[in-house]
Amino acid sequence: LTTLAGAEAAVLSGDLGRYQGVWVFIEQREGQIMPVSLELLGAGRQLAQKLGVELAGVLLGHQVCGLANKVYECGADKVYLVDNPALRYYRTETYMQVFVDLAKEYLPEIILMGATTTGRDLAGAVATELRTGLTADCTGLDIDLQQRLLLATRPAFGGNIMATIVSKAHRPQMATVRPKVMRMPALAPGRQGALVQKEVSLKEEDLLTRVLEIVQEQGEQVNLQEAEIIVAGGRGLGDRDGFQKICFGLAEALGGRVGASRAAVEAGWIDHKYQVGQTGVTVAPKIYFALGISGAIQHLVGIRGADVIIAINTDPNAPIFKECTYGLVGDVFKLVPLLTEPLKEL
Ligand code: FAD
Repeated sequence: LTTLAGAEAAVLSGDLGRYQGVWVFIEQREGQIMPVSLELLGAGRQLAQKLGVELAGVLLGHQVCGLANKVYECGADKVYLVDNPALRYYRTETYMQVFVDLAKEYLPEIILMGATTTGRDLAGAVATELRTGLTADCTGLDIDLQQRLLLATRPAFGGNIMATIVSKAHRPQMATVRPKVMRMPALAPGRQGALVQKEVSLKEEDLLTRVLEIVQEQGEQVNLQEAEIIVAGGRGLGDRDGFQKICFGLAEALGGRVGASRAAVEAGWIDHKYQVGQTGVTVAPKIYFALGISGAIQHLVGIRGADVIIAINTDPNAPIFKECTYGLVGDVFKLVPLLTEPLKEL
């Protein structure tokens, strides 16, 4: 798929050659950088190297200067820092305005953001304001060096195809990428870079939104993205009891977490926050068990970062067998207990 810009966009973009450098939005919450921003520094480093340009992190917040070192250590040559009390909490209005002003002043060629709630919100607002293209929820990034185009790949048409989208006449080229799709870069301790600190004048009384209170989410936190072992179940587990017994049984025995296909979620066997895949979470565990899961593309896009995929399925032609590291053709109700029971005795 190609996003072709009209004459208006070309005029707005002006001379595309003036845009240089790869930027990564460094999303932080209460002084902690979100892991996806560090993953994007790794991906951004590769793009910047191919293009022969600088990689910069854009750090917005209040009293966040100390985070710049981590950004350099993950590969950035430069950090653009805007520190202001009005940026303490994320608000579309303030972050968008500050980011857009920076982009207009320094003209980056590429801007990357995590496809988190904040990143998705900010990227859309920034792209609209800059009147440029944005490819959301990418699973792959590369460069067409000849045309200096960002090749942003993402599932399209309900996940039936992988589309590589380019923004031919717009700059900056923008993309959001889901957490865990890119690998965490190796840290280079003590690595230094340049700090560009910008002052902005943001007065609370001029802003349309105000943060009154931060309320922590209640209930069980399901952090599948950080799990090292995931035991995921699908429709093949038959019913809620089968799902509970097989998935939770093995996950408990292995010290892993439970995940699910959309079919299992839609059947009401487990909550949506456990869903893995295109409309669920993207995971990158060391081991991923796919039990009674056929391996639809929308599920597979969420598990490609797993080191090892072990699939159990009665159908030898199930697509999951083309993707997995180890595949067992058989009935989960017979095979999984053979694994769970001895583990319980350890
Ligand atoms: P099925 O495809 O029905 O597969 C069940 C499998 O279990 C079969 O392969 C069968 O052979 C096997 N089986 C049956 N009995 C046993 C047994 N006793 N032992 C072993 N194996 C057995 N899906 C997701 O998972 N995540 C998403 O985020 C997601 N997003 C989507 C977004 C869109 C826009 C669309 C259109 C679809 C999306 N889907 C998603 C749905 C996806 O297309 C599939 O329908 C879904 O993944 C199928 O789930 P499943 O593999 O559990 O079920």
